[in-house]
Amino acid sequence: MKVVLSVFLFCFSAVLLAQSNVPKDYFKNPLDVPLVLSGTFGELRSNHFHSGLDIKTQQRQGLKVVASAKGYVSRINIQHYGYGKALYIQHPNGYTSVYAHLKEFSPEIEAYVKKRQYAKESYEIELFPEAGELPVAADELIAYSGNTGGSGGPHLHFEIRDGNQRPMNPKLFGISVSDGRAPIIDGVYAYPLDADAHINNSREMQKINLTPLKDGSYIASEIDACGNIGFGVSTVDQQDGAPNKNGIYQIETELNGDQILNLPFNRFSFSETRHLNQLIDYGHYSKTKKRIQKLFVEDSNPLSLYSNVVNKGELHIQDSLNYNYTIKVSDFAGNKRIIRIPIQGAHVTDLPPKEEEKTDYFAQVNQPFSTEANGMDIYIPKGSLYTDTFLDIEFKDDKVKVHNEHTPLHKNISIGFDVSNYSAEEKEKLFIARLGYRDRFNYSSTYKKANRFTTRTRTFGEYTLASDVTPPKIWPKNFNDGQWISNNSTLQVGISDDLSGIKSYRATVNGKFILMEYEYKNNTLTHDFSDDVVTETENQLKIIVTDNVGNSNTYEATFFRKNS
Ligand SMILES: [Zn+2]
Repeated sequence: MKVVLSVFLFCFSAVLLAQSNVPKDYFKNPLDVPLVLSGTFGELRSNHFHSGLDIKTQQRQGLKVVASAKGYVSRINIQHYGYGKALYIQHPNGYTSVYAHLKEFSPEIEAYVKKRQYAKESYEIELFPEAGELPVAADELIAYSGNTGGSGGPHLHFEIRDGNQRPMNPKLFGISVSDGRAPIIDGVYAYPLDADAHINNSREMQKINLTPLKDGSYIASEIDACGNIGFGVSTVDQQDGAPNKNGIYQIETELNGDQILNLPFNRFSFSETRHLNQLIDYGHYSKTKKRIQKLFVEDSNPLSLYSNVVNKGELHIQDSLNYNYTIKVSDFAGNKRIIRIPIQGAHVTDLPPKEEEKTDYFAQVNQPFSTEANGMDIYIPKGSLYTDTFLDIEFKDDKVKVHNEHTPLHKNISIGFDVSNYSAEEKEKLFIARLGYRDRFNYSSTYKKANRFTTRTRTFGEYTLASDVTPPKIWPKNFNDGQWISNNSTLQVGISDDLSGIKSYRATVNGKFILMEYEYKNNTLTHDFSDDVVTETENQLKIIVTDNVGNSNTYEATFFRKNS
């Protein structure tokens, strides 16, 4: 009974979402330039699905951003990384709209935020205004577009979330983009899914040969297979007016005319977004930077995006039977690309079994794993891996190889180092680093407890102890010590750190805190004189910058401003 009921509820909610219930005419384009996207909803990104639309802002910052619908500002979050400056509007119909990577807020909201940043003496801040504090009308100016936080160029990141803060595809709400181009197929792949399965005389994943037909569809060369197999597709979509390769909207597959998988990008939860690493062939991505979406659903994959899955999307191919498998990829405008794959069931008896690389370290999904040697230890909690895996682990002097980056991790693992051989002074400067490209040190948050340092990480790879003895650098960018700068609207200072990275900074003028915005992408701290906290003629500037192991540097300078 319970099963029947949940299946019924599942179908019911899927239908509701599709047909709507979703208001079609409520949310408007938050920019007054035509909608051109550099990112679509559900697009495959690093460790997550893209949760909104990335709207292009004509390579500029400072475009007016208006409220997509009426409501009130319910959250303001300012971070150096991530969303940068972000604003959230709660709407009376229960949805929330989100605007991120902003340059600045509208004057009223900017004043509200600055007051609280000065009170907290911090650029980074998170605020939850009450319903009556900052009401907004539809189309009212709320901010100016920018490039703050983890943004690779000026654009507006725009989201619509449901009452449970789950991001939904804004296009479901009638926000539409001109798109006359069908999705692009980069490749189709077939995977043997169990030990007995084989495809074209191989037990390895096979790239399928495709021939384009006049009507825009593709036909694959017939494949010989036997056993449980599944497919994967690498695909992107392009819309009118931009060369950007964005995400597609929907993938459906059929076996002999019956749908066996339907994956539309309508809605997901942030708590499941990292499972993207299970939707894609992660090893292939890690080696080639190309993402193949698997069209079969492994038992460990809990993604709620699927609206129909039959037999896990897998094909059970039997000897001497024929099958027709179809992949249909669609964009939101309904442009489709169809791939037909004829399959001949053909059992091969003399194929050697697939060789599995075995090591001394076997980690299981449902068991914690730990090992140690040479004063170093590794702990992998249960649920960190997606499949049981033989790990490649090597302990060297002060360095440990913890498997390789081609295997995804869902949860943090811990890596510990015994540091009892170091003096107290040495220990102060030590940190745990992940060895990156060309053995570059990447700081990994290091917890120091007496003689044991630990780090928590979701990236397999080589880890080592490293030492940072150089304090951060600080230099003036738009003034010189002793200069009159009455005409400057801002004060800009460069900061950088060579090894462990910048942890914090603090700036004062004549002993009084001044707000400085940190833009890590160009190593710049900026104070805006319109804050009106620099009021004297002669000003003593003092900036202290500290790195992640506690080395700090102080910069002092004098500047003069005429005050009218
Ligand atoms: Zn975005």
